[in-house]
Amino acid sequence: MKEYARGARGEGRVIGLVPTMGALHEGHTALVARARQECSRVIASVFVNPKQFGPKEDYKKYPRDLPQDAEKLALVGVDVLFAPETADVYPDGFRTYVHVEGISERLEGRSRPGHFRGVATVVLKLFEIVQPHFAYFGRKDAQQVRIISEMARDLNLDAGIVVCPIVREADGLALSSRNAYLSDQERKAARVLYRALLAARNELAAGVRDAMQLQGVMRRIIEAESLAVVDYAEIVSADTLEPVVRVARPCFAVLAVFLGKVRLIDNLFIEPAPGESEEFVFQL
Ligand code: AMP
Repeated sequence: MKEYARGARGEGRVIGLVPTMGALHEGHTALVARARQECSRVIASVFVNPKQFGPKEDYKKYPRDLPQDAEKLALVGVDVLFAPETADVYPDGFRTYVHVEGISERLEGRSRPGHFRGVATVVLKLFEIVQPHFAYFGRKDAQQVRIISEMARDLNLDAGIVVCPIVREADGLALSSRNAYLSDQERKAARVLYRALLAARNELAAGVRDAMQLQGVMRRIIEAESLAVVDYAEIVSADTLEPVVRVARPCFAVLAVFLGKVRLIDNLFIEPAPGESEEFVFQL
């Protein structure tokens, strides 16, 4: 992979990287399509990264279907599928990690200790191997995007971080590889995430600025769904992801919700006065 990347760079190609954990859906292929528009060589990685799963999480049963992923990627036109073995990514004796302090401990990080250390470490490794000019990430994982952008800034990485919008099902559920775990009933109940996020946006539009009140609106909607349990429901600043007391600036409503054993996350950009674009606000 390194040799290929070096060669492509030598020929003056612009390399775009789309890192994924496989079980690909239209959220992933949208990232590839965007990379295809902007880069002359598109590399998608498929690697279920053990370092970002907690000991009690779903690493073992995370959906894996490399042949199908390869077909999907061929259809959207990737040049290279990079699917390394775990032992090659983490050989015996591996003990170097990247930790983006502070932000890695909140929200997802609080519920999933060590998760972002695993994410940041594998993304830095992928950047070193693939040497991308641009790397494409989904806004679905808003905190991940923020952490990777901070890592790129702090470590003077060359890759430009490109953030792409959330792709949703017709009923609003954000596409996720984990949606495959949902029973039919849980799948129906999962609509509650987007409904709660929209309710927060509507309340804001109606003049509510108090973050606790907006969080309360989200919680009540989710709690009314018997199959759903809130892990967190917060309003955070769009540029720092720090909690806010009042929504005076662009923010994200962020959610993590259990449906049975399946934990789903989602978020929605909200702002006190419309007009500012998400893309603009999110840049570091
Ligand atoms: P994953 O395979 O879940 O690690 O995701 C790989 C990349 O796809 C990450 O940058 C995710 O944010 C992005 N992604 C996953 N789901 C979606 C979605 N529904 N819309 C947009 N991007 C997504």
